[in-house]
Amino acid sequence: MEVMNCKTCGRLFNYYNGPKVCPACKDALEEKFRQVKEYLREHKVASITEVSEANEVSVNQIKQWVREERLAFQEGSGVGIECENCGAEILTGRFCTKCKNAMVNELGNAFGKPKAPVEKKPAKDKDRMRFLDKQ
Ligand SMILES: [Zn+2]
Ligand SMILES: [Zn+2]
Repeated sequence: MEVMNCKTCGRLFNYYNGPKVCPACKDALEEKFRQVKEYLREHKVASITEVSEANEVSVNQIKQWVREERLAFQEGSGVGIECENCGAEILTGRFCTKCKNAMVNELGNAFGKPKAPVEKKPAKDKDRMRFLDKQ
């Protein structure tokens, strides 16, 4: 545990883990999140700027929620989040479906075909012994 200044309001607080904001600011942010979620339910095709202005939340904060897959924008809302791998426009998360699938496949292959464990071959020693015997 350490004492730290809140990133948002500057107040000192006891920091354990997670975002470096005090409990009061964390609560306020959660409240904002609920507000934004509610707003998106009513304004399904609102753009990220509209959401930001209507709810007084920074665009970066909204994008972070989208990256964390806590918020999802509708098709056509122009949220402007890009796949971190190929740059294609996506509505939620960090990667587009194509890249996500590719990654899942890669992971699947890695697990499906494990590298043969390196076996110590006692035969080698025997060969060496035989070799030594010959000398
Ligand atoms: Zn604070
Ligand atoms: Zn992609």
